[in-house]
Amino acid sequence: MSQVQRMSRLMAKTLRDDPADAETLSHKLLVRAGYVRRTSAGLWSWLPLGKKVLDNISRVVREEMDAIGAQEVLLPALLPKEPYEASGRWDEYGDLLFRLKDRKGGDYLLGPTHEEIFTQVVKDQCTSYKDLPVMLYQIQTKYRDEARPRSGVLRGREFQMKDSYSFDTTDEGLAESYALHRAAYQKIFTRIGLDYRIVSAVSGAMGGSDSEEFLAPAGAGEDTFADCPNCDYAANTEAVTFQGAVAETVEHGPVEELDTPDTPTIETLAAHLGVPASATLKNLLVKVDGEITAVGVPGDREVDLGKLGEHLAPAVVELVTAEDFEDRPDLVRGYVGPQGLKIRYIADPRVAPGTAWVTGANKPDTHARDVVVGRDFEVDDYLDVVVVEAGDPCPACGTGLNLDRAIEIGHIFQLGRKYADTFQLDVLGQQGKPVRVTMGSYGIGVSRAVAAIAEQTADEQGLCWPREIAPADVHVVAAGKALQTELAVDVSEQLAAAGLRVLVDERPGVSPGVKFTDAELIGVPKILVAGRRSADGVVELKDRRTGEREELTVAEAVARLTA
Ligand code: ATP
Ligand code: MG
Repeated sequence: MSQVQRMSRLMAKTLRDDPADAETLSHKLLVRAGYVRRTSAGLWSWLPLGKKVLDNISRVVREEMDAIGAQEVLLPALLPKEPYEASGRWDEYGDLLFRLKDRKGGDYLLGPTHEEIFTQVVKDQCTSYKDLPVMLYQIQTKYRDEARPRSGVLRGREFQMKDSYSFDTTDEGLAESYALHRAAYQKIFTRIGLDYRIVSAVSGAMGGSDSEEFLAPAGAGEDTFADCPNCDYAANTEAVTFQGAVAETVEHGPVEELDTPDTPTIETLAAHLGVPASATLKNLLVKVDGEITAVGVPGDREVDLGKLGEHLAPAVVELVTAEDFEDRPDLVRGYVGPQGLKIRYIADPRVAPGTAWVTGANKPDTHARDVVVGRDFEVDDYLDVVVVEAGDPCPACGTGLNLDRAIEIGHIFQLGRKYADTFQLDVLGQQGKPVRVTMGSYGIGVSRAVAAIAEQTADEQGLCWPREIAPADVHVVAAGKALQTELAVDVSEQLAAAGLRVLVDERPGVSPGVKFTDAELIGVPKILVAGRRSADGVVELKDRRTGEREELTVAEAVARLTA
């Protein structure tokens, strides 16, 4: 089969203008270069060029998964409700889950990820410790009814994921399966040409190894990660912890009440008193399982409700509403202070014992100064709840952290026995007794990776693929005249015979300018032009990334490209 794809036959209509709804560079370029077309919100059709890139990534993923001994399977995407009800995720997923009914009224879902089903498959297939360890993977379409399916294929409602699952009888076995996946992911992302960082997705000073994310730094990313310029600490900001401030021992004067009319916000208060916002104590009221609770953080910091929710889970955290104040004269809106409060008080570790604060006096239009932690009020629970900011200390070495945007492209996770417990996944152990299996779960966003690579590699002119995943190895352009077209087709065949994947632009009646622009836009790493000197058998070879050009004889060009 010929490896030459003629542009005259290729279904890839390039566009000069960005699609109106596109926010990110990859979204614009993948549409403009004819790789994908939007079918509906978050639903994308992959056209021939896009499908090639997608398949190339899948091939690399497959090779590296096979290399660690994982076995490929394919499970249904349409799934019955019961296993997800058993694990609790039928409810936990909320609106993210696509739910549907069959003709008999039975409940089904479109799989967002498959821990439940893999657990059941292994329970059915593996009965003895001799059947383990086992690692299974699939490359499959996943469904999530994302709230904001923006950014093209970066966040689809239907997308391609490689998901794999490991099954071991011991914790050491799980650690090994996890390490194998981690190493395979490093190879995959290096091969597909992604610049990536491995960051801890769990809190803890040194970061745990039991959950890590692979992030592709990119401005278009929706994740923020903290990165230490001094040591190798890197973590998702949600996982960064603050290593507790030291208790203060200086003496502070007694609490002093201050008349502060019209200062219900930190900004108005700080301006009125002429103190920095960081000297004030902000008390956010929330409901924890319905019970009103105060959360104290320095006035210049924001509470991360996600972090708070994670600390307090499974309790449900909600913001208070005006109604919650109705029968609570003790809670003076805008003027709450922890001293004398009769509700649970949670504080960030920066609100350290012995420190003095300006805070509400629990009276309208009144604040209090020199309110000292441990003297004037007690903290019930210290929880790390503020939004991490650039310059916050690295939990490992104390250096100020950098914050960067990134795209999550992979996630590896030691699940432990959660799903094995739900489905009573046991195998017969060496001693003849049942042993509960321990699991890992590992994902790669295959379709997301297409966009992530595009984000990282594209330039003003268009896409610019790393060779391993490019839709072709070389894009041959016939400048226009019959002789040039003949040469272009002839070189293309020689290159294909040498094993290269070739895209040749021999479109009649299309100007050389349009062909060059399209070649830059489509982003094949090498562009070979049969132009001015075609009669002498001389072509021009251009590197799409560096823009470097050289004039070569056809034989030289073929040798160069196949080297
Ligand atoms: P995100 O935080 O971006 O929503 P996630 O943490 O929910 O992702 P996982 O459940 O860890 O995603 O899924 C594994 C991988 O699948 C992710 O690392 C990501 O690369 C990819 N992925 C997740 N959601 C989407 C989506 N809506 N569109 C494309 N790829 C996705
Ligand atoms: Mg994830």
